[in-house]
Amino acid sequence: MALLRHTKADMPEREALTINPAKTCQPIGAMYAALGIRGCLPHSHGSQGCCSYHRSTLTRHYKEPVMASTSSFTEGSAVFGGQSNLLQAIETIFTTYDPEIIAVHTTCLSETIGDDLVQIIGKAREEGKIPKGKRVIHANTPSYVGSHVTGFSNMVRGMVKCLSEPSDIRLRRINLIPGWVEPADMRELKRILDIMKIDATVFPDTSGILDTPQTGKFEMFPEGGVSVEQLVKTGTNCHTLALGPTASDLGRKELELKCGIPGETIELPIGLAATDAFIETLRKIGMVEIPKTIEEERGRLVDVMSDMHQYFYQKRVALWGDPDQLVSLTGFLCDLDMKPVYIVTDTPDPGFEERIAKVMNGRVSGAKVRQGQCADMFLLHKWIKEEPVDLIIGNTYGKYIARDENVPFVRYGFPILDRIGHSYFPSVGYTGGLRLLEKILDAILDNKDRTSLEESFELVM
Ligand code: SF4
Repeated sequence: MALLRHTKADMPEREALTINPAKTCQPIGAMYAALGIRGCLPHSHGSQGCCSYHRSTLTRHYKEPVMASTSSFTEGSAVFGGQSNLLQAIETIFTTYDPEIIAVHTTCLSETIGDDLVQIIGKAREEGKIPKGKRVIHANTPSYVGSHVTGFSNMVRGMVKCLSEPSDIRLRRINLIPGWVEPADMRELKRILDIMKIDATVFPDTSGILDTPQTGKFEMFPEGGVSVEQLVKTGTNCHTLALGPTASDLGRKELELKCGIPGETIELPIGLAATDAFIETLRKIGMVEIPKTIEEERGRLVDVMSDMHQYFYQKRVALWGDPDQLVSLTGFLCDLDMKPVYIVTDTPDPGFEERIAKVMNGRVSGAKVRQGQCADMFLLHKWIKEEPVDLIIGNTYGKYIARDENVPFVRYGFPILDRIGHSYFPSVGYTGGLRLLEKILDAILDNKDRTSLEESFELVM
């Protein structure tokens, strides 16, 4: 990362090499999604090194112990396959840790060998290694394609494929797939649903699992999350609302295919317009009135947006991270009259540029937007060298660019390894929008305080 300092503005275009990717690996997303099921132990079918890396990245981001097991591949498993390791692991996990459910995901190695999870889990069931009433679900997450968001999306689909049961009954209850958002965001989405009096099964749901209070007692399986029983019954709910096409569309489509549940996918409710769309969609699906509390929260966000408009106006911003967050954030920045000029995500998403253009709605001319291979932080830094920006927004790895270019930096996305707050304070909904505004304003005004000339330094800048 320190090598970013040597990034030049005149680097040639690359076709193959990714440098400092704006993504991480698939199983991390699968592990995060699996943690959103109550009583679940994520299991990494691969070598110990992969599992340690995934656990440590999630632990460093959430500042919580992340439990997961591994098939502990050796050279022998790499040659002969990992079936015996997984069979032994399933037996040991249920005997020793007694989870309700194990969520198995693959790694690069087990995918390259070609281990067949369906067959191995079937064999474990035949051999009585899965106790009565317990479940084992799975997702294929080869990390040489996609990103952590793809892994999350694959595991969400795995939940539906392995657990949701079709039914003729239709309850007056919806499924909400929240996308890859923080535990605080999932909590906030549930609060909004409560206020609007809409019954919903939110899955996955990492609130109460990765933001647990200190009680002095270690709980291997905290009380939060969605239960297995609720997941089984997703097939009886009347509608599915998926937030964020990249992370959640697969799960919604699978529910439609398997259980015939109608639904729709909208952008993540980050910022004013995207939250408006979310609330309006909920209003229609739930056939309810929009409560005064929600209207007041919106009003407070609009008030701060207009009060502070002078500080946002025409500020050039560079962003990197995950497609769903970037699309909604870009729309929000445009609503603030800011100029998101550089946007990159290494997560492959063919519709990304079009989604960005839609939320920009012609408000930013000459913006550079890239997704997939080579849409990395090296490219972003090169663009910043060519023409500077006033603010950068992205994960922790941006601190090297912020320091080298002496530019204000708002930490947002995954992973954030060197700060706290992201898992405790939501950024979705109108309340989340206020927190984003505060962070952006603080970064801009702190920089103004720090860099203004002595003669123009005032109490209120
Ligand atoms: S990229 Fe592949 S080998 Fe590396 S940690 Fe991820 S799953 Fe393991």
